[in-house]
Amino acid sequence: MKKSWVFAMLVLSLLMIAGCSNVKDTESLNQVSLLQWLTLWDYYWSKTIKELKWLWNIGLWTFDWLNWELIMLDWVVYRANDKLEIEVPSDDEWIPFANVTFFDNDEEYELKDIKDIASLKEQLDSKVNELWDNRFYFAAITGKFNSIYIRSEKKQSEPYKPLAEVLSVDQTEKILNDVEGTVVALFTPAYMSDLNAAWWHFHFITSDRKNWGHVLDLNLNDASIIWDYTDNFKLHLPDWKFFRSLDLTVNQDEDIKKVEQWQ
Ligand SMILES: [Zn+2]
Repeated sequence: MKKSWVFAMLVLSLLMIAGCSNVKDTESLNQVSLLQWLTLWDYYWSKTIKELKWLWNIGLWTFDWLNWELIMLDWVVYRANDKLEIEVPSDDEWIPFANVTFFDNDEEYELKDIKDIASLKEQLDSKVNELWDNRFYFAAITGKFNSIYIRSEKKQSEPYKPLAEVLSVDQTEKILNDVEGTVVALFTPAYMSDLNAAWWHFHFITSDRKNWGHVLDLNLNDASIIWDYTDNFKLHLPDWKFFRSLDLTVNQDEDIKKVEQWQ
């Protein structure tokens, strides 16, 4: 009798520990590595897709060797191939750099008359000004797009080119017309410019999950926008020798500026 009671308590404790380790953190923007790590041509592993999916369900950036751009939505990680069509990579693939969070709905409303990416940024900026400039936001913009202009970079091999050069010579582009889908938007504040590309970053995925890419321009009449406000930031540094010995004091402002324009 006593033995079975001890066993039951042990099982209960183990279940509680397992449950606690998978608590969804809804209020942190998580960053895997630094953009400056990527712009120094080191397109290597930091975390696996499986690790990303353990706690987070929305995110963006890229795969190892810049093997095309990454979008994560509803717990699924997608890659766009050279036709900007979608592949679902294996959970064992590595990610050199990403921003991810557990998305929750803090506010939702309709967006109207977005004639181009500048007018989208204008509307989003005025909302951020009203909310608070110095925190992080993820937003999901879902609707029918009159047109959307997307791109992705191509997989690199050694000797690697700098990211800014990759984006100017090794990318593929496409315009989709009358297409339903979701733009995943990330806002990082200006003070993040030593760790990331500050301000807005947009990736788009079609509702049928057939196409996606980094957004260069768009046009839409109306769409719903859901905002996730995030007040905490967690940085996950790569745990390997090369990263620890890297000189990250090199000034990369010019490269980051190019990446902000293209990535
Ligand atoms: Zn991108």
